[in-house]
Amino acid sequence: MYKVVVIGGGWSGCAAAVSARKAGAEVTLLEKTDMLLGLGNVGGIMRNNGRFTAAEENIALGAHELFEITDRCARHVNVDFPGHKHASLYDVVKVEPQVRRLLKDMGVDIRLMSRAIDVEKRQEDPVIVDRIILAGGEIIEGDVFVETTGSTGPMGNCLTYGNGCCMCILRCPAFGPRVSITQKAGKSDIMGRRKDGAFGAFSGSGKLEKGSLSDEIRQQLDEYGVAVIPVPKEEIVPEKLDLKVCQQYALTEYAENIVLLDTGYAKIMTPFFPLESLRRVPGFENARYVDPYAGGKGNSIRYLSVAERENSMKAAGIENIFCGGEKSGLFVGHTEAISTGSLAGHNAVRYLKGMKLLELPIGLAIGDLIAFANKNLESEEGLMTRYTFAGAEYFKRMKEKGLYSIDREEIRERVKRYGLEDIYSEKLI
Ligand SMILES: Cc1cc2nc3c(=O)[nH]c(=O)nc-3n(C[C@H](O)[C@H](O)[C@H](O)COP(=O)(O)OP(=O)(O)OC[C@H]3O[C@@H](n4cnc5c(N)ncnc54)[C@H](O)[C@@H]3O)c2cc1C
Repeated sequence: MYKVVVIGGGWSGCAAAVSARKAGAEVTLLEKTDMLLGLGNVGGIMRNNGRFTAAEENIALGAHELFEITDRCARHVNVDFPGHKHASLYDVVKVEPQVRRLLKDMGVDIRLMSRAIDVEKRQEDPVIVDRIILAGGEIIEGDVFVETTGSTGPMGNCLTYGNGCCMCILRCPAFGPRVSITQKAGKSDIMGRRKDGAFGAFSGSGKLEKGSLSDEIRQQLDEYGVAVIPVPKEEIVPEKLDLKVCQQYALTEYAENIVLLDTGYAKIMTPFFPLESLRRVPGFENARYVDPYAGGKGNSIRYLSVAERENSMKAAGIENIFCGGEKSGLFVGHTEAISTGSLAGHNAVRYLKGMKLLELPIGLAIGDLIAFANKNLESEEGLMTRYTFAGAEYFKRMKEKGLYSIDREEIRERVKRYGLEDIYSEKLI
């Protein structure tokens, strides 16, 4: 049987595993920690702004399973908050076990605490990889590989480009550092930049324990899913907006207020907030961070490890590695990771069968985002931009191009017109 090996079990790796399995391949998924979903264990915002369109495009293309889970686990739907409309907020505690069960039931061989550290190549120029070596020495053979290791950390990067290890969900001190597989195969990674030219970017939010907040704030979160609390003038630090990954939240409202969202925890929409200063805000007198644990001091550093790739998600110069998620561009978001991961997994199977690789048309938001983000990596400015359906530059483009819609039928029709309805459900092997 044909074998696909996915390296990295975040949203993009899980999506790649699902689409490759649906296309008929044997799939092994390697994840360095003891949980799937990576950063998906601490996010939660779905369907805000253009992400609604992208979620529905994925569903029409046949990648519906993961959205069914995030929709089912939503604590709140149709939430508006500054700059964002019709968001749904999934419960970050409930989603991972459900995704794990889905993958298991589909027959994906999930290998947790399996950190890839190197590759063995069968051929140079173009490179063909045939084995992955795990920390500990085990060798995993495959016919084609999908790299979805993300771009977060390792600790050295958080130290050099951030405020040190902030003890984020990836828990590098316990499970070991992220490793770039395309780099091990001989290709250099592209590094994203901030507005001031510095490398990487701070993750843009953290979680507070809801029980550590005032009754009033908690009630607001439980009832509406959102709470916007003004920050006293002396505690406002507008420069923090330039640090963040998530340019869709780099609006003045986010500097002048504490914006909280209910994802099971109270998601605080700022990269970090010194605890002493936070506790001076009424209602936060006892506030406590649960993610990252050192959220009073810093946050994880991302976007230092992007592979050069084609719009089919195949890594440039490597015959049999595809990539998805943050590894495949300066993308922000679960929806973006699922969109790119699903295509990468599907194309990995097309490669095995010797079929033409699928490129999604730019008349679909997903195809346009994939092509636009790729093209923009060629410029300095493009390296300072982040790409998301949820806001900033790309959402503006989506609206200008008439790609943004919240009409499910219209979105399905669009996918149908390109002859792509349920393409990810076709068994190729
Ligand atoms: C604090 C925070 C809040 C966020 N909130 C939201 C939100 O609300 N909504 C939203 O849409 N987006 C949010 N995002 C962004 C979003 O989570 C990410 O862009 C997206 O989930 C990235 O998915 P990924 O699969 O590309 O990477 P990751 O989630 O980073 O997954 C990569 C996986 O690969 C594993 N790995 C790495 N190296 C190896 C190796 N060598 N061997 C094996 N495994 C390896 C890692 O352990 C990890 O599980 C948030 C991000 C953060 C940090």
